[in-house]
Amino acid sequence: MGEPARIRMKPSMVASGCRYCAPLKQLLNFSPLHRRPPPPLVGTLSAHLNPSPSSSPNTSFCTGNFLLLPMEQFWTRGRIDKNKALIENLRKYGVIRSSKVAEVLESVDRGLFVPDGIPAYVDSPTQIGYNATISAPHMHAMCLELLEKNLQPGMHALDVGSGTGYLTACFAMMVGPQGCAVGVEHIPELVTTSINNIQKSQAAPLLKGGSLSVHVGDGRLGWPEFAPYDAIHVGAAAAEIPQQLIDQLKPSGRMVIPVGNLFQDLKVVDKNLDGSISVRTETSVRYVPLTSREDQLRGY
Ligand code: SAH
Repeated sequence: MGEPARIRMKPSMVASGCRYCAPLKQLLNFSPLHRRPPPPLVGTLSAHLNPSPSSSPNTSFCTGNFLLLPMEQFWTRGRIDKNKALIENLRKYGVIRSSKVAEVLESVDRGLFVPDGIPAYVDSPTQIGYNATISAPHMHAMCLELLEKNLQPGMHALDVGSGTGYLTACFAMMVGPQGCAVGVEHIPELVTTSINNIQKSQAAPLLKGGSLSVHVGDGRLGWPEFAPYDAIHVGAAAAEIPQQLIDQLKPSGRMVIPVGNLFQDLKVVDKNLDGSISVRTETSVRYVPLTSREDQLRGY
């Protein structure tokens, strides 16, 4: 790995990217001036939040309380409506074009994957602890769009740096019970949290059925057990594209990976049928580094 990006941002600057400087207000409002989706603004603030998977009140202590049952339904309905509104906005501004992607993003409630007390339905990345973040919704949507053809039912998908498990769950919904969606994350606590998150989501039956799994490991090595993959997504920026990931890509497979240190590009890597590789740049982005666990916990 080369010199990792070490970007210190004041909280007020979290929404400014390296090459894209949309004011926070415009970003959150999906300003029509910025129809091209801005880069993921993955902050590196060193706050260590205590990740908590559920954003709904815990009512388990009052089982049988007839008043709280309707309240719980109300909260649940509110969350689903907000998630739907978020996806509709991403659709409206052209980030989501595929009905299948929209359907999957609507079915997997982002609120279940964001720590307590943090707004889940705004287009912004969020700290999840351990110097990691859940990426902004527009980045998840963009990556799903880029990978859609490689996330057909029955296909194999790998999510490197699976963090909260949100995108891995979306991949699992795309490839279905006959497919295989694998998350690899090197922080064991995040893997535990992500499994808890998934268990509360629409993707829970896929986890139970075994077509969706999340593992502790160094994602730079991929996950050979279920290779080759039709789709590989890397959720952290690599100094260079790891050869092991290229090797685990199926001919006609596609990988989406942020590459770079301080300045990063989202690369689309296609493996051709003859095994050769084509690489193109989609957009400028900012992600946390794909690095060792030690470096990440030290603050890169
Ligand atoms: N895509 C996820 C997380 C994005 S943050 C989400 O949106 O929820 C990037 C993630 O990559 C972090 O969780 C970080 O811990 C993980 N990561 C960084 N380097 C890694 C490595 N070498 N192996 C596995 N995971 C890694």
